[in-house]
Amino acid sequence: QENVQEKIDYVFKVVVIGDSAVGKTQILSRFTKNEFCFDSKSTIGVEFQTRTVIIKDKVIKAQIWDTAGQERYRAVTSAYYRGALGAMLVYDITKRPTFDHVARWVEELRAHADSSIVIMLIGNKADLVDLRAVPTEDAVEFAEDQGLFFSETSALSGDNVDGAFFRLLEEIYGVIC
Ligand code: GDP
Repeated sequence: QENVQEKIDYVFKVVVIGDSAVGKTQILSRFTKNEFCFDSKSTIGVEFQTRTVIIKDKVIKAQIWDTAGQERYRAVTSAYYRGALGAMLVYDITKRPTFDHVARWVEELRAHADSSIVIMLIGNKADLVDLRAVPTEDAVEFAEDQGLFFSETSALSGDNVDGAFFRLLEEIYGVIC
């Protein structure tokens, strides 16, 4: 992980959304701490975590917000989306309903977030190959149709997690800088 002492050029707020138990908290902790917690339930009260990275020679502090379980009660408020430049919209490749609900989450973003928000659709738990219930092609088609970026990840193995975040941050950089 980059250890950047210099001044921060930009702070990018990114929100992580999607159904409960798809792995939002683990993806966040993989990206910001390179950790996966087997016995975790997310610390209530912690609103966001950060990681500072270099994108196109600029020092970018990614400020990544977790719903901290609020999505269970459909209580994700507009304050959560305010100022967000990017969204990681996560489903679980082993749970079809979590993919079927993605359209609803996109609507929620279109209603509450800035219209220029960059959205990355994430099919998480890609390590559970034998339990796959959502074919990659279904997600690719949906993402193309809706103008979203797409990646499959495993917070458990770490596969593609950094790649997905860097892609999102680069796209945000392209939109605002
Ligand atoms: P959240 O409710 O969306 O924040 O989901 P969590 O991050 O709490 O994860 C829900 C459950 O899925 C936990 O038991 C995690 O250990 C597990 N999990 C999260 N990501 C992965 C992954 O990539 N692979 C596997 N096999 N399990 C995962």
